[in-house]
Amino acid sequence: MSSTRVYNFAAGPSALPLSVLERAGSEITNYRGSGMSVMEMSHRSKVFMDIFQETQDKLRRLMGVPEGYRILFLQTGASGQFSAVPLNLISKTGRADYAVTGNFSDLACKEARKYGQISLACDTGDRNHCYIPRQEGLKLDPKASYFYYCANNTIYGTEWDYVPRTGDVPLVCDMSSNILSMPVDVSQYGVIYAGAQKNMAPAGLTVVILREDLAGHELPHTPLMMNYRTMIDKDSMYNTPPCWCIYMLGLVLDWVEENGGLSGMKKLRDLRSGMLYDTLENTRRFQLHADRDSRSGMNVTFRTGDEALDAKFIQEAAAAGFVNLKGHRKTGGMRASIYNAMPVEGVEKLCEFIKSFDKSN
Ligand SMILES: *Cc1c(COP(=O)(O)O)cnc(C)c1O
Repeated sequence: MSSTRVYNFAAGPSALPLSVLERAGSEITNYRGSGMSVMEMSHRSKVFMDIFQETQDKLRRLMGVPEGYRILFLQTGASGQFSAVPLNLISKTGRADYAVTGNFSDLACKEARKYGQISLACDTGDRNHCYIPRQEGLKLDPKASYFYYCANNTIYGTEWDYVPRTGDVPLVCDMSSNILSMPVDVSQYGVIYAGAQKNMAPAGLTVVILREDLAGHELPHTPLMMNYRTMIDKDSMYNTPPCWCIYMLGLVLDWVEENGGLSGMKKLRDLRSGMLYDTLENTRRFQLHADRDSRSGMNVTFRTGDEALDAKFIQEAAAAGFVNLKGHRKTGGMRASIYNAMPVEGVEKLCEFIKSFDKSN
């Protein structure tokens, strides 16, 4: 690691693998003999079209995206999908189920209420979103057009450890903060989407994977840029796509493949989060926000219960090279986001730091 790099625990935009940044750096003024940067190319040029197609193919291969599913490279962030999902899918029955387990599913649910009749499958706000309900606890509407949930709650540090069973009702899942961290069975979903800036690429790209037959039923006033059918027909190039981010995603996917693919990512994820939870559980000073069976493998939320001590921890950690550990204002305390790009060594060292802080405070 270059001597000026820190261990960056930011929730998003977040760390990218160093080798990916170095590769991008080496190609930044002259992409493989083209004489120009990827940032300077026409999105319709052969050289960029190849990058686009290869990136899509790599993602399809890595995630095992089956036939009948399309991959879209869009903009407007994960939050754009809060609107796009109901606009495109709710017309079937005018109703949808939302599982509210944190900030982003709550925002998505509020947005969807503009377009149809929404039922809450659950709402974990009663205990500040520190848990994920079990299947038996979900209230399901068999007439829902879709069932919506957020797989990993970035702010609260909880994660679904199962895929909800909803019968014939298609699943829509916000995977912004845990996509590419483990294998998923895409065929169980109607729509998977993710803002790229957590675990895939720089900010500016939103990846949508959808079962093609779900498109084409949009509400009449659906904005052009949010229409899944249009974006499928134009292969995400109705207008200029986020070219640079798509290129960066391609480099990240190469890195994931070189490091054991999604099962390799899962092993590393379990190693990192296991170490950190284990360390925190064995301290006197720190408490975890999430219930044990609902803990996230990506965002570890903890606190001392004493705001001044939390602030001291965050400050001393930063001075020691562990940055962006301050928790979101909704949870307070600390949050360590340990996405794919966080080296295991970074977590090992953070654990040492936590233990010594715990001893001396
Ligand atoms: C960060 C995040 C969002 C918001 O993403 P934007 O791209 O900024 O709109 C939505 N959902 C989850 C789970 C997130 O982590």
